[in-house]
Amino acid sequence: MSNLDSPMFETKAWRLTEQQEELTTRARTLGQAKFADRAEKWDTQATFPTDNYKDMYDAGLMGICIPKQHGGEGADLLTYALTSAEIGRYCGATALTFNMHVSSCAWSGRLADDLDMDEATRALHDARRGVHYKRILETGAIYAQPFSEGGAAAAGKQAFETIAKRVEGGWIINGKKIFASLAGHANYYGALCTEITDENQTPSRANTMYLAVPAAAEGVSVEGPWDPVGMRGTVSRTLIFKDVFVDDNAPLMPSGVYFQAAKRWPHMFMTLTPTYMGLAQAAYDFTVKYLRGEIEGTGPVKRRQFATKQLAVAQMRIMLDQTKAIWFQAMSEACANPSKDQLLRAWSAQYTTMENANEIAQLAIRTCGGQSMLKTFPLERMYRDTRCGSLMLPWTAELCQNMLGKGALYERGESDE
Ligand SMILES: Cc1cc2nc3c(=O)[nH]c(=O)nc-3n(C[C@H](O)[C@H](O)[C@H](O)COP(=O)(O)OP(=O)(O)OC[C@H]3O[C@@H](n4cnc5c(N)ncnc54)[C@H](O)[C@@H]3O)c2cc1C
Repeated sequence: MSNLDSPMFETKAWRLTEQQEELTTRARTLGQAKFADRAEKWDTQATFPTDNYKDMYDAGLMGICIPKQHGGEGADLLTYALTSAEIGRYCGATALTFNMHVSSCAWSGRLADDLDMDEATRALHDARRGVHYKRILETGAIYAQPFSEGGAAAAGKQAFETIAKRVEGGWIINGKKIFASLAGHANYYGALCTEITDENQTPSRANTMYLAVPAAAEGVSVEGPWDPVGMRGTVSRTLIFKDVFVDDNAPLMPSGVYFQAAKRWPHMFMTLTPTYMGLAQAAYDFTVKYLRGEIEGTGPVKRRQFATKQLAVAQMRIMLDQTKAIWFQAMSEACANPSKDQLLRAWSAQYTTMENANEIAQLAIRTCGGQSMLKTFPLERMYRDTRCGSLMLPWTAELCQNMLGKGALYERGESDE
């Protein structure tokens, strides 16, 4: 494509691999050529970006985190994050929902490979995940990731109230998930549930199951309205599971492995940030173009000659560079059993990305002025979309601060008693 936007992360400067350069270029080309123009429609109508998903499938992006031996791209977390950020630049709702789909593959893929399982469990897991991957690669299946319930479970503080009762040949699921992005549009819902094997068992976080529920299964329904301030194209409505049977191939992770992942592979929760990293870049890019008189419908008036605008853009650029630096660093050190310093930095990076994306969008509107908040331009959508980032569990902005403060002042097991 001619006139392709510059990459968010230049290959030479950020020492990208060949694969990272190739995938990010693929995503940016698609985003700029197709997603940017369509974004207004999904936002205005609060409808799911189905056309974008067809294009991502055709471009081979839906299997980005499926391991190579299963036919995917085998991307690691950083590679996925860089690619997804390029999508977020052009359509926040597409990138955020893409994250839910890709996490289903990344968590069951590379991440699970780093966790402890005995040989038989690992072999069973590999066979089961192969079923999910085949659906994605061969039939274009889309996976969602509903785990929020409105209680303390999504923050990792208590067991999920959605129950998966073990029965002959599978599980029976009952429960409710709120804010289920892709509701009514995914083919499978990767739901976190608490497994119960006998009636008298007390629900425990250690028994969390990650099960793919077919959208077409009997007992699955989508309810409630969806008319939020931002990220409107995610269609994150409420999901109800009423006596839904899923078979033995449903697990995306074996019993107990999600609990292990949440403890030992905490960067898994950073997958929500690439969307917002991309939006931060987009708000900055818009501002530069606007002040140079290069946005269609606002020119040829230039505003860059005013010292006030130069200072404001400098402030945005500093914030963007700070965000990119810590985000890239934290993403690149994602691994099993991170050190305490790495974990604290992951929380700092999550907080910084989610809060700064909205702050940069806010500065962009203030700097460009009144015309820039008209709905004819994408900036006001970026402002609304970025407002959502710091609300997303389990690492909301305030929970990151809480964990950071506590983590900085206390060593494991320490108390003031
Ligand atoms: C656009 C969008 C898309 C989303 N998509 C999905 C999705 O696909 N799947 C999904 O599972 N979820 C999704 N979510 C849900 C999201 O992660 C939250 O669960 C949801 O926003 C509900 O938040 P709440 O503020 O009502 O949560 P509440 O549980 O009411 O929490 C309120 C606040 O209290 C704080 N808090 C919560 N627990 C504790 C605690 N134990 N200690 C101290 N503070 C606490 C948190 O900071 C939180 O912000 C989405 C949200 C948005 C905005």
